[in-house]
Amino acid sequence: MRDLSANHDLMSLNTATVRKQWRLDQIIDECARRNIRAISPWRDQVAAVGLDVVARRLREAGIRLSGYCRGGFFPAADASGLAAALQDNRVAIDEAKTLGAPCVVLVVGSLPGALQGRPAYTDLNRARHEVHDGIAATLEYARSVQMPLAIEPLHPMQAAERACINTLEQALDLCDELDPAQSGMLGVAVDIYHVWWDPKLYAQIRRAGKKRLLAYHVCDWLTPTADLLNDRGMMGDGVVELKPIRNQMEESGYAGYCEVEIFSEHWWGLPGGAVLDTCVERHKTVV
Ligand code: ZN
Repeated sequence: MRDLSANHDLMSLNTATVRKQWRLDQIIDECARRNIRAISPWRDQVAAVGLDVVARRLREAGIRLSGYCRGGFFPAADASGLAAALQDNRVAIDEAKTLGAPCVVLVVGSLPGALQGRPAYTDLNRARHEVHDGIAATLEYARSVQMPLAIEPLHPMQAAERACINTLEQALDLCDELDPAQSGMLGVAVDIYHVWWDPKLYAQIRRAGKKRLLAYHVCDWLTPTADLLNDRGMMGDGVVELKPIRNQMEESGYAGYCEVEIFSEHWWGLPGGAVLDTCVERHKTVV
């Protein structure tokens, strides 16, 4: 297992962690000041500053990406909605290419409209088929420009609104179906918040192996959890045994960043500098 205690060269910051404190250009500056070497930005944060500006600022600061958030949300109520989702995913891939991202993270979507409280249908199997077809079509484009896609299974509590892929096993089944040759262009993003509870977690990480393990996201699971979306814990403040999971990731071939991704009203309410300093300290000690 890699030793993270000496420095934080292997830490990446998912920029949603401080999205309420700073714009993305400020986040890049604050990361550079603390020698944080990688980030994973969100499309809306990039758009607010401008794609070319962000690409230039990253180059100047010598900061790399650990992923790009995000593509997905494939299911739709009708054919034009399905086509619009595919087009939007192509744009996300192009943006990722401009930023030099190693992969586009896919939150695949589920019942269309459920996020807004008005699901257009309730057939979860239909949503799964639309996700299958959407990833298949997007993978074709991704291959043509050599941008890997990382499916992120979400905790089943988000199965209606955000993702109908809820376990690593389910994500890997889809990878094997759509990319049986393990080309390196389709894999998974392992986010401990979503998968820590899964009795098959370790076996599925082993099954995934180096070719499929494209990203690793860390935070912690608080007890009790006050909000199912925006109450993630800082590493070390919850019940997830982080080191054994990272050990399994690395034994299975993962050699990338540990990306700190904390959606939290608590941490959004604190000064950004204190949040980043805490992330760095916890990365060295408990990740
Ligand atoms: Zn994540």
